[in-house]
Amino acid sequence: MVILLDYDGTLTPIAPKPSEARIDPERKEFLEELSRRHRLAIVTGRDMDSFREVFGEVPETMYVVTSHGAKIYRGKKLIGNFLNGEVPDLSKLRERLKDLEGVLLEEKEGCFAIHYREYRGDEEKVKKVFYEFLREHPPKKVIEGKKVLEAIYGGFDKGTAVENFLRLVGRKPDEELVYIGDDTTDLFALRKVRELGGKAVFVGEKKPPEADILLKDVDEVYKFLASIDKAAHQK
Ligand SMILES: [Mg+2]
Repeated sequence: MVILLDYDGTLTPIAPKPSEARIDPERKEFLEELSRRHRLAIVTGRDMDSFREVFGEVPETMYVVTSHGAKIYRGKKLIGNFLNGEVPDLSKLRERLKDLEGVLLEEKEGCFAIHYREYRGDEEKVKKVFYEFLREHPPKKVIEGKKVLEAIYGGFDKGTAVENFLRLVGRKPDEELVYIGDDTTDLFALRKVRELGGKAVFVGEKKPPEADILLKDVDEVYKFLASIDKAAHQK
């Protein structure tokens, strides 16, 4: 089976700051175990440094697709590089965001993100600064997620990430395919996975039209993973 998993909000609850979203050690062990039996990839908007900060060392059997598909790793090893554009100089943007307390600017490979989970002011103000900057430096893609705005210059979206991953590692005919994610960015992947005959799973309160299955929270994600693993054993 090919198992593709978003990280934040799917494998770990959303934290006030992205750097605080650490994986539970027992759950990491479970994921490592799964990655020995299945081809398991974590598909994240984070780059590898930011991912390692919350996940720690990546087991050798596990894949990580970073920055919305810009790079693909197996364990520590970079096995695919699809980075195709650079992030512009962000110093002006940083300057403009300086007075908005709680707003966090994150520069990554091929994209940047503005997190405003901890911002208590008018969110439209943040969006205005963001879109004004984009007018001067148009990205390939813009994604509005949960309290995060992302501009993608050198990556793609998670749909392309899924495609690139499957092209790189291959998928046997009729091999089962599952994707689980919780945010706007994951909808691209869910659409792609469904197109490929896989299971599209969304984590949240309401099932979007792109998904086949709805899970309510992170706890349910782990229960679901355990159940599909068990079912695969029994085949
Ligand atoms: Mg997420």
